[in-house]
Amino acid sequence: MGVPPVPRRADVVVIGGGCMGTSVAFHLARRGHDVVLLEKGHIASGATGHSGAIVRRHYESRVGVRLARDSLSFFTRFQEETGFPCDFRRTGFLSGARERDLPAFEALVALLRSEGVPAERLGPEEAVEIEPRLDVRDYAAVLHDPDAGYADPIATAVGFAEGARRHRAVVVEGRGVQGIEAVRRRVRGVRLRGGGRIASDRVVLSAGTWTPRIARSAGVRLPIRFVRGEVAILRRPPGFGAPPKIHFDVYGNTYSRPEGEKDLLVGFMNSDPRRTVSGPELRENSIPTATARDLQERIARRFPILARAQPRGGWAGLYDVTPDAYPIIDAAGPEGLYVAVGFSGHGFKLSPEIGRLLGEFVASGKRPEALSPLRASRYREGEPVVPDAPFPKGRGRRLP
Ligand SMILES: Cc1cc2nc3c(=O)[nH]c(=O)nc-3n(C[C@H](O)[C@H](O)[C@H](O)COP(=O)(O)OP(=O)(O)OC[C@H]3O[C@@H](n4cnc5c(N)ncnc54)[C@H](O)[C@@H]3O)c2cc1C
Repeated sequence: MGVPPVPRRADVVVIGGGCMGTSVAFHLARRGHDVVLLEKGHIASGATGHSGAIVRRHYESRVGVRLARDSLSFFTRFQEETGFPCDFRRTGFLSGARERDLPAFEALVALLRSEGVPAERLGPEEAVEIEPRLDVRDYAAVLHDPDAGYADPIATAVGFAEGARRHRAVVVEGRGVQGIEAVRRRVRGVRLRGGGRIASDRVVLSAGTWTPRIARSAGVRLPIRFVRGEVAILRRPPGFGAPPKIHFDVYGNTYSRPEGEKDLLVGFMNSDPRRTVSGPELRENSIPTATARDLQERIARRFPILARAQPRGGWAGLYDVTPDAYPIIDAAGPEGLYVAVGFSGHGFKLSPEIGRLLGEFVASGKRPEALSPLRASRYREGEPVVPDAPFPKGRGRRLP
């Protein structure tokens, strides 16, 4: 079967078939817009397909909590909304605080609760009641969000894309965009790799780590660096029992979640400047055995039973990271161009709500208030996103 014919014009062209592009395409198509989504490879072949796909609401800034809260609620209704499953599994979420970090921890819990997230503060003994395998000896308190979980990232992007198709969007895989066409500072369409063009006066550029390069064709420079992210898969040992809750260990620099019925996915929580690469693609998507071993040793300090787990490899993907580790969602450059980039380790869980808000922005031309903190000009204006409740203070930036 060949690549389907590409329409010559569209109301809106969306570039990129990751969770973000497919979500925007879905929300725009649902509003009745005539949308063409172009994906150079296949749906979810970028960072989305390598995502840990954790859906949590525990953010340190109000803008993050709100986007994550509303996105999680969409994940629980994904099938009703799109007509397709995303395999969201509610597991619950735990993250502990040491004595000296209790003031910052209390501030974080208060921030979450003020935004309607039913986060609970548990004592260490209460945490052990709900997660008996967890070593809580250094924890003075544990945050519990009962509703967090994870989804299947490929099913999610495919679900958004199929949902968009149901609303008459045209989704084309295997056709890349060469550049954006603009005349007198207005978008006129996109040029396709291999020849051809699509005329359109609105283009959404959501091509993940490839976005800065495509944006340059419209004279737009974006402050993005690329960071390699790695996850390992461990087979849970005999006697492990029920799937664990998602756990963030800010002291051991790991996050973990169940992977299906038998495995556990483990990754590093904080960005490490030594993992910065030139991008936009990784040459190698597998991980060294030493990295898998390092992750296993770290997670076994928190879940001692996992010292007996069997490593089963893992994979690497690329994060697109802005100076404040929050995305840029804005109109940029020629009129009619919109960018959604710089998601670090947050893009999957935020994709439903960002897709909805960006769809509203593109449809109306007016930036929704909720996106104002994520405007492109914030760095030049000296107003980057800063945590409202940094926890624990002074540590590296959170990734997943
Ligand atoms: C290891 C790892 C773990 C992660 N874990 C989590 C997590 O637990 N929770 C969470 O919320 N987030 C997580 N993330 C982050 C999240 O996965 C990303 O932020 C998100 O997938 C980004 O989606 P996107 O649609 O912006 O980009 P992508 O998924 O990269 O999609 C961009 C698409 O654009 C296409 N494209 C590129 N150039 C062109 C072109 N010229 N023409 C047409 N198409 C083009 C690409 O092929 C690609 O499919 C993780 C990321 C990594 C790497």
